[in-house]
Amino acid sequence: MVVLLAQPVAAQSLNTSEGDAPAERTQMKPIGSEQGFADWLAGFRPRAVAAGIAPDVLDRALAQARFDPKIVERDRNQSEFTKTIWDYLDTAVSEDRIRHGQRALAQHGALLSRIEADYGVDRHVVAAIWGLESAYGSFRGDIPTIGALATLAYDARRAAFFEAELMAALKIIGNGDVTPQAMRGSWAGAMGHTQFMPSSWWAHAVDFDGDGRRDVWSDDPADALASAAAYLRHWGWTSGAPWGLEVRLPDGFDYDQTTERVKKPVAEWQALGVVPMAGGVLPDHGLASVLLPGGARGAAFLIFSNFQVIERYNTADAYVIAVGHLADRLRGGPAIAASWPRELRALSLAERMELQERLGAAGFDPQGVDGRIGPNTIAAVKAFQRAGGMVPDGYASLEILQALR
Ligand code: CA
Repeated sequence: MVVLLAQPVAAQSLNTSEGDAPAERTQMKPIGSEQGFADWLAGFRPRAVAAGIAPDVLDRALAQARFDPKIVERDRNQSEFTKTIWDYLDTAVSEDRIRHGQRALAQHGALLSRIEADYGVDRHVVAAIWGLESAYGSFRGDIPTIGALATLAYDARRAAFFEAELMAALKIIGNGDVTPQAMRGSWAGAMGHTQFMPSSWWAHAVDFDGDGRRDVWSDDPADALASAAAYLRHWGWTSGAPWGLEVRLPDGFDYDQTTERVKKPVAEWQALGVVPMAGGVLPDHGLASVLLPGGARGAAFLIFSNFQVIERYNTADAYVIAVGHLADRLRGGPAIAASWPRELRALSLAERMELQERLGAAGFDPQGVDGRIGPNTIAAVKAFQRAGGMVPDGYASLEILQALR
């Protein structure tokens, strides 16, 4: 699933370290044609053969590959759409998704228990990823993956990335795990229940039901859910540890500390007056950071190393918080208690770029103007806020942009 958020980062497509690069827009070519696509395929074929893909696999898979200009349009426009974290969480962790998840947990309890035992990943976290990626398997996407990846590989914007994914997808077909007809997913090539990209499938998919195929596409979620757990374990999931928890910060808290870049032992956070929102004492799961995804007027979270493991699925903080919070809710935990500054709206791409430009011009270098609110932009916003006597929470709001104008 591709989620796009205004804050703190524009999100990326699943399982890819490749982000959007809106700055490339300026050099964009016109959307291609059927003929251009056919020419591109003719040129691609020998490259695929040289990469070890059998000609009969190419015949079968590419015969049905169609150029889809709608996919190119979506790829080019996705950075325009942004949400605040509260709007995103309203949908990602809706009452509907919680209820649906509880039904899925009951229905697939035995499977999720076996996965939890084999991979050491909490069933609620696996279920939450399933819930966010495909609404527990009910929206796996029905776009033919080969056609989608070929379209994006033909389009110049991220050609090398998508050609590599196309090669990986063709090799999956050559391996006999799925037919070209059944290999379907979302428009950017993410496939099945847990929306694996083909390269992630090769690196992490498992044959959990033992039928000889790693099938993440069909109705049975066994292989896909085990693959998601295998993925998290590979990236260092700590069994029995939470992703994080909602906390309350004391009055006068030093907001310079609220960044994923500052990690401290739990005892130090405790000494600084950080307490669990739900009461009691902070659990100790090693080094932790304090995160304010909606700024100083929104919820605060203490996050542990499993937060960074979920980030491997999708680096957007809001996605990680949604997975973690949905897992907590599926376990019976409470809703986020703090309110959000719902009167604030998300900045548009143009506004985010203007913010970065103006921060740089004012001497607070955000290390690039790309419209992505990442750690460097947050650090620059904090520095600007500090210099102006504001609370340095790093939240890139319209207020900050107006103060820079
Ligand atoms: Ca299987």
